[in-house]
Amino acid sequence: MKVYEHHGMYTAGAWRPAATDESTDVVNPADERVIATVPAGTAHDVDAAVSAARSALPGWATTAPAERAAALTALGRELRARVREFAETITAELGSPLALSRLAHVRTPLAVLDSYAELAARHPFEERIGRSTVLLEPVGVVGAITPWNYPLHQMVSKVAPALAAGCTIVVKPAEETPLTARLLAECVAAAGLPPGVFNLVTGVGEVAGRALAEHPDVDMVSFTGSTAVGKEVAAHAARMIRPVALELGGKSPNVILPSADHTTAVRTGVTNVFTNSGQTCSAWTRMLVHRSRYEEAVTLAADAAAEYAPGDPVDPATRMGPLVSARQRARVLDCVRRGIKEGARLVTGGPEAPDGLPRGYFVRPTIFADVTPDMSVAQEEIFGPVLSIMKYEDEDDAVRTANHSVYGLSGAVWSAETPEAVAFARRLNTGQVDINGARFNPLAPFGGWKQSGIGRELGRHGLMEYLQTKSLQL
Ligand code: NAD
Repeated sequence: MKVYEHHGMYTAGAWRPAATDESTDVVNPADERVIATVPAGTAHDVDAAVSAARSALPGWATTAPAERAAALTALGRELRARVREFAETITAELGSPLALSRLAHVRTPLAVLDSYAELAARHPFEERIGRSTVLLEPVGVVGAITPWNYPLHQMVSKVAPALAAGCTIVVKPAEETPLTARLLAECVAAAGLPPGVFNLVTGVGEVAGRALAEHPDVDMVSFTGSTAVGKEVAAHAARMIRPVALELGGKSPNVILPSADHTTAVRTGVTNVFTNSGQTCSAWTRMLVHRSRYEEAVTLAADAAAEYAPGDPVDPATRMGPLVSARQRARVLDCVRRGIKEGARLVTGGPEAPDGLPRGYFVRPTIFADVTPDMSVAQEEIFGPVLSIMKYEDEDDAVRTANHSVYGLSGAVWSAETPEAVAFARRLNTGQVDINGARFNPLAPFGGWKQSGIGRELGRHGLMEYLQTKSLQL
């Protein structure tokens, strides 16, 4: 692949030189080659971007909602024209198989963008309560800090509602996937959005991310990433008494009730965990199976895992690519080793390098059985292709085990009777639950309970995060 050298940051509607010559390399995780060099932003770059967003705010905040909707539609058009380029870029810097890049990584954010173009046009930004008129006004300048695992989706899930609400935004994407962010900035430019409404600063989290999270002229920070960094971002927001939205980690339960079609439930569960090499915050990484059908489920899971041999993400036959980085691989392998040490039964996979892949950050898709609730592989977010299968005695035991987590992001329930699954789902302490493998809904609120976060993304609920209320008494 060609090595690109990128200069500058996108601020105030143009690519402008970065404050220093510092840069970071972008590495293709499938072959460990450097594919690009991008500027590593500093506090000066963040300052310039925030100031551009501040200058653009009064104009953008007072545009008619229909005008903001039209801008999002124009942005959607630009993205659609470059679907292939986005997909190839995401595969090159993240390592996800190309088909997955095209669908989950590009089509999903397009659906999100469309949904906000529509919502911006028809959301009631004003309501009457008795003799008061309640106005919903934009929060102001938003700092958005995003991770690498669904690089375009994570940015669009913040940019679209923020712009729909009338906010302006500064995005700091993950250092692993800045090329997707630069493509998005190119689309913003081509769509003709007013200068300063969208700004991009690439750079490392400790420097550019921290500068954005701490910046005194940012009105709100929306962060997606690890719970550890989320706590720091929340602490900065607390010091400034300003709103913060956090989309953090997860360890979601997939509860298979005894009546469920186990073949479908287990196979879908395995796919859910191994998709994107397990680097999905909402992945159902704990599979809970009734003791009467436990060994059957373990065998079904092992068979399903055989279809996920890691390989070159550009090969159409590949269903699982590498992990994003050497650091992520080291973290995942450490968790796998701990699982073995703590006595979980290794059904398939393990910490050894996969055969025939001398380069790239590949790991074996791994399944543990006989995992008990307090083992590290039942508690820690691994963020790799590792599934823990657990046994439950009865429904109360399943609820207890499912809720025994510091996280509460997502989950799944399977049953032959939908009402039974829904009744069970009501007992889960988690932000969303998929019943019998139901499809993702880009209009439904997405976000976590407990240490999985604060606030919601997507749909009407996601828009509300970027609005503040003002009551006029008449
Ligand atoms: P991370 O927290 O290390 O990084 C996320 C972002 O924060 C990156 O842009 C990074 O540069 C920046 N950052 C790092 N240190 C910072 C600091 N001190 N101050 C400000 N910004 C900083 O997370 P990651 O390893 O890149 O992503 C994986 C994590 O993200 C997982 O825990 C996963 O569950 C979580 N995640 C959650 C969701 C969700 O919607 N709940 C979605 C995707 C990923």
